[in-house]
Amino acid sequence: MRVIILGSGPTGLLLAHALAKLNHPTLQIIILEQRADPVDPTGAGLGLWPHSVRILDQLGLLPEAKKLVPEMKTSIHLGPHGGLLSESNLFDRIVENHGHPFMFFERAKLIQLLYERLENREGVVLAGKKAVSILEKDDVVEVTCEEGPSFVGDILVGCDGSHSIARRFVESGLRQYPALSPTTAVGKVKASAIRMPSTPCLPFKATFRCLFGISQLPAGLDHCAMIETHDQGVMIQLLTSDDRTYFLLYEAKTQQDDGLQTTRYSDADAEAVAKRYENHSVGKEGKVTFGDLWKNKIRANLFDLEEGVLSQWFSGRVVLAGDSVHKMTANLAFGLNVSLEDVASLTNRLQGLLVTQHATRPTTSEIEALFADYQAERYSRAKTCVEMTGLYTRFATWNNVFFKWMNLYVAPRVGDMFVADWVFSWIPRGGVVLTFLEESDPKRGKVKYLH
Ligand SMILES: Cc1cc2nc3c(=O)[nH]c(=O)nc-3n(C[C@H](O)[C@H](O)[C@H](O)COP(=O)(O)OP(=O)(O)OC[C@H]3O[C@@H](n4cnc5c(N)ncnc54)[C@H](O)[C@@H]3O)c2cc1C
Repeated sequence: MRVIILGSGPTGLLLAHALAKLNHPTLQIIILEQRADPVDPTGAGLGLWPHSVRILDQLGLLPEAKKLVPEMKTSIHLGPHGGLLSESNLFDRIVENHGHPFMFFERAKLIQLLYERLENREGVVLAGKKAVSILEKDDVVEVTCEEGPSFVGDILVGCDGSHSIARRFVESGLRQYPALSPTTAVGKVKASAIRMPSTPCLPFKATFRCLFGISQLPAGLDHCAMIETHDQGVMIQLLTSDDRTYFLLYEAKTQQDDGLQTTRYSDADAEAVAKRYENHSVGKEGKVTFGDLWKNKIRANLFDLEEGVLSQWFSGRVVLAGDSVHKMTANLAFGLNVSLEDVASLTNRLQGLLVTQHATRPTTSEIEALFADYQAERYSRAKTCVEMTGLYTRFATWNNVFFKWMNLYVAPRVGDMFVADWVFSWIPRGGVVLTFLEESDPKRGKVKYLH
């Protein structure tokens, strides 16, 4: 079986690792990546929750991953001028509950590790290959690259992020994307092969933008902490190590904006947002401002935060995973965790097909049944994660007076521990893992894992 993965982002690389662990003699994996460098050096931080750490362990990546992360200690919530709302050992409680810690990575370092640890990486990851068209034939799928050759596989997994061509193929319902003319649209995917979820399709919307980046750690900020400063329409979230600050400034877009059009921002736009908040406090007692971080920044970007989950995750031999199929706000650090569950869920099913059923060249209907099963497992959990982090983003930016009152007066009394025990614990608890691999370091806490 030949699996083509589009995109060498974290989802694509993790999928390649998981598939490689099948050790199946007929399995061939290639990743087509549009960028010249397979390792994306951009972005800021990526946090992995304990259930994802279990998968890193199953993939044999945990010992090296541990060397890349600070040991997170405190969680601090502040009012607009740096007044303390609450401070807790949230990260210790996560370990008590789930055995593993919340691991916070610099995004580029995690991707570098995933790439470097991939066996035969030069043969697997083909950089500078931008997929421009997808054609599904009776028993294969063919991807054509810009100025380049075509690649033929049994299945195509679109891990190609927010601007996914694989998503457009799936959404079109046609067997060729882009359709050259009406006559080349050789037919719709059989509706009978698709188990549609009962909930309607949510379009991706963006009602928040996020200015995120990395700066040197200024004096006056706690080390190895998460510090959130709340205000009307804005929340600034910092994750610090011993020498760096990873910052995320979430700003509600204006009322007139219906959220349906995402905007591509320039460096000047990013500067304008930074200027707007330069005197905004980001540390205790107003001692450090956002301007202090901005002056010492290493890199930064401004992006719209899209939110939504596609109701259709596959079409024929093409299936989606990661940001190509669900997008969410970043406050709760769920995005890649949800993607990693996609990876586990899909790989578990491919293992069943290849190893248990010995279907090395599966038919389109076998593949569609597998993808429908994958979608059925993933859809509602992904949707809940999108909604949960979206709710937190609105709460944290005082989207209404009730949220503001809750944030200022109720949350500090209830405390992070209540949230860790009762609100967040079910996310790691229900996390899908790889069913065919053991954990080498099976840490357990007070909350029992379902899988
Ligand atoms: C500010 C911010 C902070 C975040 N923080 C966290 C966090 O703490 N924890 C967390 O879990 N998640 C976080 N997320 C979400 C996380 O970054 C994403 O969920 C994750 O990067 C998704 O990875 P992906 O591989 O699916 O997509 P991407 O990272 O977008 O990778 C897609 C890849 O596909 C390639 N590609 C695209 N089109 C083509 C094509 N036509 N042909 C070939 N290649 C193509 C791209 O070049 C890219 O390399 C955050 C997101 C943001 C914006």
